[in-house]
Amino acid sequence: MKRTDGGLISTSFRTIGDVAVIRPRSLDDAVAALMQHQVPPAILAGGTDMVARFNEGFNPRRVLALADVGELSAIEDDGEVLRIGALVTHARGSQSDTVRRAVPSFASAWARIANVRVRFTATIGGNVMARRTRYEMPVLLAALGAQIRVRDGNASRLWNVQSYLQREGAPRELLTHVEIPLADLCAFDYERGMRPIITQALAVRRSGKGLQLRVALGTEAMAPYVLEGTCDDLTGDIEALAARLFEGLPSGVCDHLTSNAYLRDVGRTLLGRQLTRLARGGL
Ligand SMILES: Cc1cc2nc3c(=O)[nH]c(=O)nc-3n(C[C@H](O)[C@H](O)[C@H](O)COP(=O)(O)OP(=O)(O)OC[C@H]3O[C@@H](n4cnc5c(N)ncnc54)[C@H](O)[C@@H]3O)c2cc1C
Repeated sequence: MKRTDGGLISTSFRTIGDVAVIRPRSLDDAVAALMQHQVPPAILAGGTDMVARFNEGFNPRRVLALADVGELSAIEDDGEVLRIGALVTHARGSQSDTVRRAVPSFASAWARIANVRVRFTATIGGNVMARRTRYEMPVLLAALGAQIRVRDGNASRLWNVQSYLQREGAPRELLTHVEIPLADLCAFDYERGMRPIITQALAVRRSGKGLQLRVALGTEAMAPYVLEGTCDDLTGDIEALAARLFEGLPSGVCDHLTSNAYLRDVGRTLLGRQLTRLARGGL
């Protein structure tokens, strides 16, 4: 709410004051603009989350609009790593031939995020950097062991997605792209039927000894939690395998809407379904 001469009114984009919009045309100019001002400008990608923040009372004086920074829109696969620029929208990324070829089931999962109107504007970078636990991209990326590349002045650093999201937000840092390692990745699956209570992504990689499973669990109010396990193959008792993996869930992991026992039960049931699907698909 905002106090005005006429009384209290709900905040929205209509109630924000004058905003200076900076529109850099290159990544270096965008980074320079972030460093230049004492109060860093608010970074704007598709704006779908920022509009929600206006409703929550956010009132920036300067906005750094990334739309013209072409370097942030590339999608590349060099055989080892799939690199997705921060400005790639949900619609473009999920329909990209490069993404579909590299990790088809990730593309399908991405295609299920948000509604059609939002999908054509909302970006992968904004989904991660909004730092809202209910958003799904961090769960998908955590299972895939993805890293995010962040520019902080002249420094460019790679961060593991979960580690990055566990630290405080840093307004002068610019996410440039997401990197998904492709080596040995043989399957991916996403369960969002129980969203927002719980969503769960599973990535499977082949290792010398068998299969490496990486499960990322997301909830409405908890940053993705990752569980890892191994198995020889998926011909054995899948329910037992899922239960064994969830025995590794520490007792403190849950949010205020769930309990640890609930996450353990639902998580292992979802994992059983996911593994069964992959086994039926020929893994
Ligand atoms: C109706 C609706 C339905 C939705 N449904 C879903 C859903 O089902 N699943 C889901 O996961 N999400 C959902 N969302 C959320 C949506 O996916 C996100 O709002 C979107 O991905 C954010 O991207 P954006 O480009 O619009 O970000 P913006 O709003 O432009 O920015 C979001 C935040 O990220 C920061 N930021 C953006 N880009 C960068 C960058 N490159 N570097 C540093 N900081 C940056 C901004 O400063 C801001 O704080 C929904 C949103 C709406 C409005």
